Amino acid sequence: MLRFIFILLVTNLAVAQQPSKEDSLVGSLTPEKSWWNLLSYDITIKPDYRTKTITGNNQIKYKVISEEPTELMQIDLIKPLVIDSVIQNGRKLSFQNKGNIWYVSGAKKRKNKKYTITVYYSGAPVESLSPPWDGGFVWSKNSLNRPWISVACQYKGASLWYPCKNMLYDETDEGASISIITPASLNAIGNGRLVKQQRTSDGDMQYTWKVVNPINHYGISFYMGNYVNIKKNYTETKGKLSMDYWVLDYNKQKVEDHLIPKSIQAMKSLEHWFGSYPFYEDGFKIVEAPYIGMEHQSAIAYGNNFTKGTYKGNDVSKTGWGKKKADRIVIHEMSHEWFGNSITAGDIADRWIQEGFAGLAEELLLSDLFGKKAGRSFFQADIEPLKMINPSLEDTVSMKTEVQTDRSSKD
Ligand SMILES: [Zn+2]
Repeated sequence: MLRFIFILLVTNLAVAQQPSKEDSLVGSLTPEKSWWNLLSYDITIKPDYRTKTITGNNQIKYKVISEEPTELMQIDLIKPLVIDSVIQNGRKLSFQNKGNIWYVSGAKKRKNKKYTITVYYSGAPVESLSPPWDGGFVWSKNSLNRPWISVACQYKGASLWYPCKNMLYDETDEGASISIITPASLNAIGNGRLVKQQRTSDGDMQYTWKVVNPINHYGISFYMGNYVNIKKNYTETKGKLSMDYWVLDYNKQKVEDHLIPKSIQAMKSLEHWFGSYPFYEDGFKIVEAPYIGMEHQSAIAYGNNFTKGTYKGNDVSKTGWGKKKADRIVIHEMSHEWFGNSITAGDIADRWIQEGFAGLAEELLLSDLFGKKAGRSFFQADIEPLKMINPSLEDTVSMKTEVQTDRSSKD
């Protein structure tokens, strides 16, 4: 996110001076996190709009990669959410809590073996006050006053809403699934493909979505509301790609008028410059969200009011090029499928990788549409001044200090 980048940079510099011990434990590769390699997440979540609480569980599959694993296994989950129980092979495991860190005892750990633990949790997740900038749950209402719920957590990470290994470098090698339980009046969309839809014993609906590709923790998300689906098939470099658009029921026409043309335009340019869309197996989706955007893998969040440029903020195109034909959020978030989701910075401090290439993607699209001069002039006016694209050495060192100080202070 463009404005996000700048805000985060400023926030980061402030935070970097005094990381708390707890920040260290989340942000560092501790011994309790490094003996196991993450294989998959299977998340089930039931949000309750009235009480703004959730209950859920995450089946975390892992492979033991160390000769000498520590006794404890670290799971991250940010309070006020709490872990209720941890089960492995029908056996209850004990755990202890230190702030936003949870240490599980007795998890299986024979080298090269694969195991699963199921972590049950509940509570009122941190709420986002200015989504997606600050991160957290979004309990919103649509313009007909019906519940509209989602979550975005790029910077703080997914332990804001589900128990996980909050590290960008360790993606789920075998994919992930997310199952959302909603009242029957709403429906829910997650990453990848819908693999199951069923009524629960108490009359709710459960929607299970699945990706087969590796995914990072903040790339997983869901959207719950009164959605309709419009499908479009797209044939290009790797054959047929299913493109799906999920918007609130009263915005259906805007898909045909705006989202389909803009996203096809962007897909052609991105595949031309960056290679095939990285997740043909999981399909591609744009989902209307109660915030401006986020690169949730194969289900990107879109909240740009179906307009050209960007609909708010001070990052409208200074040269005018960005407003002419492109929807800047469509091209920006779509480009993150290549840089951000397929190629992910191993550490959030290095996210210039994803944001830098997203800026370049905007230039390339405008070059395709209006010629090289237009693309360059847009980039120079609108992208280059953002420090994240070309951070000074000082900025980079400050941002990394937090993590590195923490790594050396583990004891
Ligand atoms: Zn971005």
